[in-house]
Amino acid sequence: MHTQVGIIGAGPAGLLLARMLHLQGISCVVLESRSRPYVESRIRAGLLEQGSVDLLTETGMADRLYKEAMVHEGIELVFDGQRHRIDITALTGRKVYIYGQQEVVKDMIVANLAAGVPILFEAQASEISGLEGERATIRYTHEGKEEVLTCDYIAGCDGFHGICRDAIPPQLMRGHDRIYPFGWLGILADAPPTKDELLYCRHDNGFALFTMRSPTVSRCYIQVPPDENAENWSDDQIWSELETRLGKHEGLTLSTGKITQKSVTAMRSYVAEPMRHGRLFLAGDSAHIVPPTGAKGMNLAISDIYVLSKALVAFYKKNDASLFETYGPTCLRRIWRAQHFSWWMTSMLHNLPDASPFDAKRQVAELYTIATSKAGQTLLAENYVGLPFEM
Ligand SMILES: Cc1cc2nc3c(=O)[nH]c(=O)nc-3n(C[C@H](O)[C@H](O)[C@H](O)COP(=O)(O)OP(=O)(O)OC[C@H]3O[C@@H](n4cnc5c(N)ncnc54)[C@H](O)[C@@H]3O)c2cc1C
Repeated sequence: MHTQVGIIGAGPAGLLLARMLHLQGISCVVLESRSRPYVESRIRAGLLEQGSVDLLTETGMADRLYKEAMVHEGIELVFDGQRHRIDITALTGRKVYIYGQQEVVKDMIVANLAAGVPILFEAQASEISGLEGERATIRYTHEGKEEVLTCDYIAGCDGFHGICRDAIPPQLMRGHDRIYPFGWLGILADAPPTKDELLYCRHDNGFALFTMRSPTVSRCYIQVPPDENAENWSDDQIWSELETRLGKHEGLTLSTGKITQKSVTAMRSYVAEPMRHGRLFLAGDSAHIVPPTGAKGMNLAISDIYVLSKALVAFYKKNDASLFETYGPTCLRRIWRAQHFSWWMTSMLHNLPDASPFDAKRQVAELYTIATSKAGQTLLAENYVGLPFEM
């Protein structure tokens, strides 16, 4: 089988690229190691920047999003017994949308399959080669058979644990890494959101985040040690800790309900440079991950694809390969800004295990600096709502 662009991975990055290439008449095949039901039910991110929603709208994949997403115009910082609202829309003119990643993925799969774009589920890529030659090759297993897909270019959209990043020769690859000494215990619960906007809480016991997936489903997180076992936490303990970290505030009562899912996510920042090697382009989590405090993971995957699709379209439509050279550097400018923002939010809101009383007081002072100054609020809001795709 031959195609113009072989896409490994049917996450937000791979599926969006497939759609954008198809709309320009460029052929592609998507290989996904997991089953369709698995990828459609994988609970991960849930916040889309305005720019991400605009791109989903332009590519005809936002109809259900506009019916079901919850549109947010602000967030609250909760610390030192006080609540401070950041009015994102007043400060930036833009909004964010609460819509689960699994719903984004479902909409993308439907749009691609309806248009006849081949997505092979349970097709595990095992090796890529020919990156410096005339033609790239992907070896994969599908329905028990070894298969080969040849292509002009490979989009490595196979997430953090995929095979593509390791195909770049180690002497050319530089990985920038930071592992945080804590994780997030996340729950899904059949409970209306505690508040109609996200609550980011700094407490001496650790960070807590109150978010949601729908008007009837809450998603909440508490900072825990990175190797914590979610099963060590009973439902009552989780609700009790969430209540403590939220604190007592007039007119704000913790909303509780049946916990339907709980898991621990480790926190890590990582950036791979370069993002291109010959016929291979890395995009999304295969090239970088962020701690989820800034809600940037899925949005960065989407902005990478915006830049990559432009480069591929320029090549196939105008025979102009110049954007291949600038793909990585263009993405990396935004990626590093998102890395900084995610690190900053994480550092400002979490308890470091070795933090001194000085550190704790300095952290609260920093939160006051941001929350009580229009300049501080604007800085947070501009980054939270999403920077331009190209900068
Ligand atoms: C557990 C977890 C929780 C997260 N929670 C949040 C959150 O709360 N908020 C937030 O903003 N972000 C969160 N993220 C980050 C966000 O979900 C990712 O940034 C986003 O999924 C990136 O999209 P992607 O398409 O690049 O990669 P992915 O969504 O990871 O997609 C990669 C795809 O490639 C497939 N694949 C891998 N290897 C192969 C192979 N060899 N052959 C074929 N297919 C392959 C995988 O099965 C997968 O479907 C979370 C991520 C994880 C892992």
